[in-house]
Amino acid sequence: MFIIYNFTELKKIVKEKVKEKRFIHILGVVQMAEKLAKIYGADTEKVKIAALLHDICKEMNIDEMRKIFLENYKDEFPREDIDNSQILHGPVAAYWIRKNLNINDEEILNAVKYHTVGNKDMGLIEKIVYIADAIELGRDYPSVQEIREKTFQNLNEGIILEIEKKGKFLESMGKKSHINTIQMKKELLKELEKKDEV
Ligand code: FE
Ligand code: FE
Repeated sequence: MFIIYNFTELKKIVKEKVKEKRFIHILGVVQMAEKLAKIYGADTEKVKIAALLHDICKEMNIDEMRKIFLENYKDEFPREDIDNSQILHGPVAAYWIRKNLNINDEEILNAVKYHTVGNKDMGLIEKIVYIADAIELGRDYPSVQEIREKTFQNLNEGIILEIEKKGKFLESMGKKSHINTIQMKKELLKELEKKDEV
């Protein structure tokens, strides 16, 4: 892996691009992701960088996000995502950090790209950043502690629980889970079944 900026330098870049509250969330994700990387044997350096960069484009204006999205990702995500900055900021950030920070590591880029809605084939680093975003210590929602504990015991089961809880929450607001998230859950359940067979 060849990275031009080290972690401390990247941290400064991120700090300048987001509001303080968001920066605190980001540092929480870095801390949680590092902890999970140690538990599950992932490359901690890559995990920390992906976590640090995951929300770097969250405050970009929506027109700029849409432009980047249309030029680079429109065939990969459902059409309706174009109006949802909550989803766009993942893929847009993957593009942005490749272009502006010269980071070409696919595991880092994919972890950033899919942190919002997941993806059907998630590698270890992608999984860790996805769930660390949901359970960092600054997060406070009814089931967060339950999901944290499950994640510390079993990464896949923790993610499945998070998807289920989020799905119920979305349902209560008359919304549905994103197609990527539904596919991700299916794959995770398959992975768990395979483990049981061994
Ligand atoms: Fe995000
Ligand atoms: Fe986040």
